[in-house]
Amino acid sequence: MVQKIQDTIDEESRPFWDGLKKNELMIQQCDDCAKHIFYPRSICPHCFSDNISWKQSNGRGAIYSYTTIHQAFGPFKDDVPFVAALVDLDEGVRMLTRIVGEREQIAINKRVKVTFHQLKDDLVLPYFELE
Ligand SMILES: [Zn+2]
Repeated sequence: MVQKIQDTIDEESRPFWDGLKKNELMIQQCDDCAKHIFYPRSICPHCFSDNISWKQSNGRGAIYSYTTIHQAFGPFKDDVPFVAALVDLDEGVRMLTRIVGEREQIAINKRVKVTFHQLKDDLVLPYFELE
């Protein structure tokens, strides 16, 4: 599982993963239409421009939807139950992530902020916690 995550790291997404190691949540922004882009790619999905830059997200957003995971495999199997969620960042992109903290407090539309979870020496994942 961890290896699978690392296998997906390529030149297009490397700034995202490198940013996480510095506790920075990096997303892309189109230089032509100014919209933000996530997941990383080389062509803007809004206007098909290839003028894309990286910038640091403010790491804040709101829960769009979530579900409690009761069974998991690989490095996450001892973490259950945990909450997987789609978070809408303030920049307007949606990210599949995990919400940490009091599960009873988690609800749709609640404000969250990024927290950095060191999974391995060279792999940091962005999780979110309630603000
Ligand atoms: Zn664009």
